[in-house]
Amino acid sequence: MAGTAATALAVHGGRLIAVGSDDHIAQHAGPLTIAHDLRGQAVMPGLIESHAHALWGACRDLFDVYVGYEATLEQLLEAAAARAAKLAPGAFILGGPWRPDMLAQAVKYFIESFNWMGITGFKEPMAFEEDLAAYKAADAAGLLTLHMAAHIVRFSPYGTAPVPYPQMERLAKTYRSTNIRTGFAKLFLDRVAPSFTASFIAPYLASAGYDAGAHDPATTLLLDAKTMADTMTELDRRGFVVKTHAVGDFAVRTTLDAIAAARARDGNSGLRHEVSHCAFVDPADQPRFTQLGAVAEMSPKLWFPNPATAGQIRVLGAARTQTCHAFRSMLESGAEVTYSSDWPAAAPDANPWTGLTGMLSRQNHSGSFPGVLGADQALTLDQALPLFTLAGAQSGRMEAQTATLKVGK
Ligand SMILES: [Zn+2]
Repeated sequence: MAGTAATALAVHGGRLIAVGSDDHIAQHAGPLTIAHDLRGQAVMPGLIESHAHALWGACRDLFDVYVGYEATLEQLLEAAAARAAKLAPGAFILGGPWRPDMLAQAVKYFIESFNWMGITGFKEPMAFEEDLAAYKAADAAGLLTLHMAAHIVRFSPYGTAPVPYPQMERLAKTYRSTNIRTGFAKLFLDRVAPSFTASFIAPYLASAGYDAGAHDPATTLLLDAKTMADTMTELDRRGFVVKTHAVGDFAVRTTLDAIAAARARDGNSGLRHEVSHCAFVDPADQPRFTQLGAVAEMSPKLWFPNPATAGQIRVLGAARTQTCHAFRSMLESGAEVTYSSDWPAAAPDANPWTGLTGMLSRQNHSGSFPGVLGADQALTLDQALPLFTLAGAQSGRMEAQTATLKVGK
């Protein structure tokens, strides 16, 4: 593994006070010290999840009916009946909106599950006021045993109009705490490939029923290029780090163009704006990430064959599908890359370890979806781990508190 190998650690008051050899650490021991012998097992920093809709996912697990991507009607009916059996007679199964008491329950649920999986920090990618209020209440009650950052929505396909900038600033100020970092914004620029709503430079396959002759990638952008550039510039001026949903290569290019416009107008603010998902990045655009100081947040857990792969192949063709999530090319271009699950939007769970496995093998860990996607883009463990630790922490401004095993963290 990269970095220096130490054989012992000392912790006091929740922070590392020494890292080094057994002899060195033994000097810190006192009569009340509790010693754990790990018998040579490795210790690593906690993992950072750069894009998990934690409250949404938790509410889905706790209150909704979820059956995965391939359930039959019978399975759906069974799951609905099982959920209904847990409710009072006459009560409805809710798919949202969630009441404050449900959100409070959801916070406890995801914190426990994230901590159990080894996640010590995460970024909420789509925060509205009710989410921020739930996170803040948990933090105030001392329950939020995770470092977090929240991207406040400016524009999403789920809202009717953009959230006004002063409103975003009010939310950032009201809900910020030591542990809740709020100087982050969210935009959506396209949607997903199987419904022809991701914005691609080249047409979808005509054989999938798409009118390839009339292809114009600008028509699938949710914000036109000028509005996108103006919005990016304004958010950059107001100090927000912007995360933009961009799946197709044209959406990625338009996001990078918008970051370039902000840099050209105001110089480099140092704010490391993120392109979220980066499922397909044209090779010509890969070096632009490092040139512009942008971060490639690569999700969802779709870099190995999974239930969505058949749908991607149907509309994009096998050859283009093989170019998805080009981790190795992105790293080789010098880009800073972070890991995310995009749970629950695009992954059945937030388990980072199956994500890591897929990043190394480009194969489905469960074996239920055979084959390999983009074998040339597989990473080594040494290449992959920083995406889950230091790179993720830097993108959430939590690197001073976590992500490496250093004294003071
Ligand atoms: Zn998402």
